[in-house]
Amino acid sequence: MTAPDLDGFVADARAWLGGAAEPRTRRSWGDGSDSVAVFENWTAEQEREETDRVRAYEQAKFDAGFGAITWPPEYGGRDLPPSYLLAFRRVEAEYDVPRRTEMFPVTQQLIAPTIAQWGTAEQRATYVRAMLRTDLIACQLFSETEAGSDLAAVRTRAVRDGDGWVLNGHKVWTSGAPVADYGLAVTRTDPTAAKHAGLTAFLVPMDAPGVTVRPIRQMTGGASFNEVYLEEVRLGDRYRIGPEGQGWKVALTVLASERLDSGALGLENADQAVELARNLGRPLTELERDKVADLVTRSYVQRLTGMRVAAAVVAGDDPGPEASVGKLLATDTMARTSEVARMLLGPDLTVRSDKWGTWAWSEHVLGAPGYRIAGGTDEIQHNILAERVLGLPREPR
Ligand SMILES: Cc1cc2nc3c(=O)[nH]c(=O)nc-3n(C[C@H](O)[C@H](O)[C@H](O)COP(=O)(O)OP(=O)(O)OC[C@H]3O[C@@H](n4cnc5c(N)ncnc54)[C@H](O)[C@@H]3O)c2cc1C
Repeated sequence: MTAPDLDGFVADARAWLGGAAEPRTRRSWGDGSDSVAVFENWTAEQEREETDRVRAYEQAKFDAGFGAITWPPEYGGRDLPPSYLLAFRRVEAEYDVPRRTEMFPVTQQLIAPTIAQWGTAEQRATYVRAMLRTDLIACQLFSETEAGSDLAAVRTRAVRDGDGWVLNGHKVWTSGAPVADYGLAVTRTDPTAAKHAGLTAFLVPMDAPGVTVRPIRQMTGGASFNEVYLEEVRLGDRYRIGPEGQGWKVALTVLASERLDSGALGLENADQAVELARNLGRPLTELERDKVADLVTRSYVQRLTGMRVAAAVVAGDDPGPEASVGKLLATDTMARTSEVARMLLGPDLTVRSDKWGTWAWSEHVLGAPGYRIAGGTDEIQHNILAERVLGLPREPR
């Protein structure tokens, strides 16, 4: 199949988006929502409603042929090069479409590709298309209290039981567990094997008997992540993803995709902090001007790095190291955005008033540090850059 002309594709995308959403109007200062939250402060009910709203849009997009642009037709895709996906995203950004919560990239960009790579023919047929269309939503059951950066230290056990398996353990920091249909779990199947060798991955139905989800209250007030207890959870072998003992490689497939996707994080809020400086109603001090100018410059650097990652993907290269730089730049931009808001607003940041664009920033200041940890901490990203880009000696393992 030959790819359609890119201009024609973009025109089709614009025509579909025009019917599915309103054009995005530039946020004018003092108008509409002033939320700059990094983590949403939702009740369980709101989280479900918001998930359903995004899902309805994602399903319509998939059915219109724009949901799996680069995927093969067997998964409902069009087998087009990544340049078409990037072109669609540029057009989509011009429209006021529902903002995808974290569970959507996790499902479509992390778990679906991992099942496509490691799953059996039956698993691929059952899950991949359904996850790309978000008929099924998946979460990551990776971290445990003693296994975060050192993921291979997981202690959740999966033990063979006849034709199936029994899982016991405790996962933590699981984003979106209450709305997920499945969780991809990394478990230890052979405690006698070397640390990275004794692991196996499973796709756990979140409604299986023995799975309990408990929300964790965050300092932002919401509970966007959870503890997940696995107690005598019985699974058929058809839920094993990848060969027994190859769970580490399955996990690496997920983690590699995760870093690729974090480059644009925080940029909208950085722009909003610059708008705050413009609309403060008083002249900025020298120090404030310096901090705002620094934020503008660094967010440009982050945007350009994101473009380098995109260009590498389009060219078919592996943008691994640039993706780690992108994640670091994103968390740095978020921290500097918080600093600018703190400096400009002073006490207004902490006073719960009705004044538009003031108290709302407290949600950013309290939420931003979480991204230094999620998806690989800053220190782990530094290690990757030191070892794989700069070729420095590997840290002792
Ligand atoms: C917002 C958010 C969402 C998350 N969502 C999920 C999810 O959906 N599913 C999931 O499984 N997990 C999730 N996590 C967990 C996340 O993956 C872990 O928190 C992260 O990997 C760090 O692990 P840890 O918290 O155990 O910290 P640790 O690994 O114990 O690290 C503690 C400190 O030591 C440093 N450190 C550790 N090892 C090294 C080293 N080798 N060199 C230098 N410094 C080091 C770290 O940088 C950190 O500062 C989420 C976390 C957050 C904050």
